[in-house]
Amino acid sequence: MSENFSKFIKDFKRVFDLLNLNQGVRKKITAPQKIVSKTLSVKMDNGSIKRFSAFRVQFNNARGPFKGGIRYHPEANLDEVKTLALLMAIKCAVVNIPMGGGKGGVKVDPKKLSNKELENLSRNWIRAFKNDIGPDKDVPAPDVYTNAQIMDWMTDEYSKLAGKKTLAVITGKSLSNGGSRGRDTATAQGGFYVLAQAAKKTGLKFNNLSASIQGFGNAGYNIARLLYRAGVKIIGLSDSRGGILALNDKAMDPLQVMKIKEQKGQIYSCYCQHKICDCHNYRGLTNKDLLESDCDILVLAAMENQITKNNAKKIKAKMILELANGGIDPEAVAILNKRKILVLPDILANAGGVTVSYFEWLQNKQNKYWTEKKVFAELKKIMIDSFNQVWLISRNYKVNLRTAAYILAVGRIAEAMKNKSNTFPRRY
Ligand code: NAD
Repeated sequence: MSENFSKFIKDFKRVFDLLNLNQGVRKKITAPQKIVSKTLSVKMDNGSIKRFSAFRVQFNNARGPFKGGIRYHPEANLDEVKTLALLMAIKCAVVNIPMGGGKGGVKVDPKKLSNKELENLSRNWIRAFKNDIGPDKDVPAPDVYTNAQIMDWMTDEYSKLAGKKTLAVITGKSLSNGGSRGRDTATAQGGFYVLAQAAKKTGLKFNNLSASIQGFGNAGYNIARLLYRAGVKIIGLSDSRGGILALNDKAMDPLQVMKIKEQKGQIYSCYCQHKICDCHNYRGLTNKDLLESDCDILVLAAMENQITKNNAKKIKAKMILELANGGIDPEAVAILNKRKILVLPDILANAGGVTVSYFEWLQNKQNKYWTEKKVFAELKKIMIDSFNQVWLISRNYKVNLRTAAYILAVGRIAEAMKNKSNTFPRRY
């Protein structure tokens, strides 16, 4: 068994024991239902043909069609895709959306392809996997280095092959091609609802709290803006090239930091508003320093394994929102637990993204489109409800929120495996 995957499923043993599940069910939950590997032959601009390895892993459709992104990455590999597919099955079950787990990958450096070559590759992916996907079978979405444009090409290719427009085959499409309102900020929005509920439970008030955020892309920038608007003092922000820290009780508006980042190409170490820059009360900092900064809330919105056994003892935050998948290494979890730092785990914290993807699928199937207000109202209900259930389980079983989320998800999957007619929640 490969390293990532086996590390990940180790955590499940305790959950299986707590739920008293038999060996057959344990095996079914932790084994992929199907792994499809293909070689894509893609026509390049110079007329030559290049070959790329591509795969799709499907994990447990007892609760509904498989669901998960397709990543284009030179390091994409089956072990990683398998782990992420299982994570998707768990995540969908935590927020009780009727989907299973899926993930796809292509071993390619998309930055080295022209737009036309990227389109050829994406249409080729669909031709290779057309029999394995479908609105009621497996519904892919964007992931690392894939985007709405790529999803639009893929949907178009699938529709051509099916002989009819089939929008519900893929989510994460552009708005003009059947995408959902709110999808671009859904992950941060969902994380915000979870964090707000956790603050409520622990008696903390946003306007008395400070936050540092690692990662300043889709998830990081949007959560920074939401926290700023809610009255949280943003004291630290960083991206892959480093960041900025507020000193002397100062704070920052993420929008101002973004404006300067867009001009300079990276987060600037002085804080500037209307062309006036303050370099006295702000300074540059490394990503390592940001993680260890003196804040109440730490948001991980960049890469996996940022908190490990080496720095877990130095984290000063009271709460960590893990928007990044696998932001905390399993070895660090025990240290953070012991130090009573509340971790809002990835499978709950970032599930807003897949929840709104599910809304897109639903809207496409019903051919009825929701306002952004409705999208966020439905998302809020789901995130708060899921948080409350995870919280209750963690109290009842005396386990951390990650284990509690696993208990909730694995319990739901096992239940659906027993009785497939339970698959779709009646609410929708
Ligand atoms: P993104 O590419 O938009 O942004 C990533 C940000 O992280 C960038 O600002 C980049 O500069 C920064 N970064 C990269 N390496 C870093 C490092 N070593 N230290 C600090 N910053 C670094 O990606 P995103 O969509 O915001 O995703 C961020 C994380 O959230 C990923 O782990 C992703 O899997 C997870 N996630 C995102 C979504 C979503 O809908 N966007 C959904 C679920 C999970």
